[in-house]
Amino acid sequence: MVETKILLAEKELPTSWYNIQADMPNLPKPPLHPGTKQPVGPEDLAPIFPLELIKQEVTRERWVPIPEEVLEIYRLWRPSPLFRALRFEKALQTPARIYYKYEGVSPAGSHKLNTAVAQAYYNKQAGVKRLATETGAGQWGSALAMACNFFGLECTVYMVKVSYHQKPYRRILMQIFGAEVLPSPSDRTQSGRAITAADPDSPGSLGIAISEAVEDAATHGDTNYSLGSVLNHVLLHQTVVGLETKAQMEKAGDAPDVVIGCVGGGSNYAGFCFPFIQDRLTKGAKTRFIAVEPTACPTLTRGLQAYDFGDVAGLTPLIYMYTLGKDFIPPAIHAGGLRYHGDAPLLCQLVADGIIEARAYGQRQVFEAAVQFAKAEGIVPAPESAHAIKCAVDEALAAREAGEARVIVFNLSGHGHFDLGAYDAYLAGQLEDHALSEEELRQALARLPKVG
Ligand SMILES: *Cc1c(COP(=O)(O)O)cnc(C)c1O
Repeated sequence: MVETKILLAEKELPTSWYNIQADMPNLPKPPLHPGTKQPVGPEDLAPIFPLELIKQEVTRERWVPIPEEVLEIYRLWRPSPLFRALRFEKALQTPARIYYKYEGVSPAGSHKLNTAVAQAYYNKQAGVKRLATETGAGQWGSALAMACNFFGLECTVYMVKVSYHQKPYRRILMQIFGAEVLPSPSDRTQSGRAITAADPDSPGSLGIAISEAVEDAATHGDTNYSLGSVLNHVLLHQTVVGLETKAQMEKAGDAPDVVIGCVGGGSNYAGFCFPFIQDRLTKGAKTRFIAVEPTACPTLTRGLQAYDFGDVAGLTPLIYMYTLGKDFIPPAIHAGGLRYHGDAPLLCQLVADGIIEARAYGQRQVFEAAVQFAKAEGIVPAPESAHAIKCAVDEALAAREAGEARVIVFNLSGHGHFDLGAYDAYLAGQLEDHALSEEELRQALARLPKVG
């Protein structure tokens, strides 16, 4: 148990993804067609997704085999390490044992490559030539650009305009791997042109960029759309993270009391915690699960579970999830990422059913925890991942209060090497905490689409 780095052999890489839909007590309501408000069928999704991924959205099979071609790319960095945070435990003077799974070792710097590789593979198999997608600060865009490069696909990335101009490094990374990167709103699409006509200075948003990428895919026969979070098949691919972690915890001879992760759209946390939730649902394990989000974008803690669009223009199916309303944009001062207005339906349902608890933190305490962690463990975390660290700190301090050797496991979803601007702002004392007011929340939710 003193081992600080727990590795799996290459041959221990999982060969199937885990599908929690096989074990959930309640499945979320199905996505609805935006026009007819009827459940969407495969034929509605076929213009933008390959059949294999559409099947993975709805399958109830518990295990989905990982194709050999995908495993071959996974082996570039997988299995990723699980660390025992001995120095961090000491810094916190806690009797708790803290472990973290480190997804920052992927060539894209985060967990996002796990699904990007799988999606590029299935699209290539289906004869698609090009993938269109959106990206905020560039994590998803750079993962998909790499994955498209591995499988010989073209890649068009609509990048939120303010990030395109303020955060050039991930744009450059995407271009190294051959992607075309456009600042969004762009003049390439109807939805982009409409936004610019209404507001020539629009800084863009993820919702706008999604509208552009979906429209691009829907209007080009050789082009599909690819989403980096939220959808069931994305969560499925990410379970490789949790499956490895489970095997590593067994190697360490330990079992988690609490499993923690940050939530933007829900993919890294779902992929991390679903294999552990299986033990709670089917074997009566007493593990607690905590999903962490920013107070500036408090989807799970203050949003409403309702049907809403995934994008601003209302082109996507209506998705049943916790949401702050599709027009919600967190304040510019928020530097911690995790800005999406909704969350993955599967994760939301587990929150609604009381299996996962949700917690929100202000960004200053999140960056404080990030710096404390970096000083102890030598890794500068992505600001997103730092939300999980802050929660781990609170759990470790609670364990100290209680004099309890609690086992805390969290997902360190990515490194922060491209986020040093946010750290600069924190160190200069320029970050402010922003909690959404009741009035802002009411206004955001008042615009939810009417269904049924
Ligand atoms: C994109 C991203 C997230 C948030 O997305 P999820 O789908 O919630 O995982 C979290 N951490 C890192 C490092 C990211 O790049």
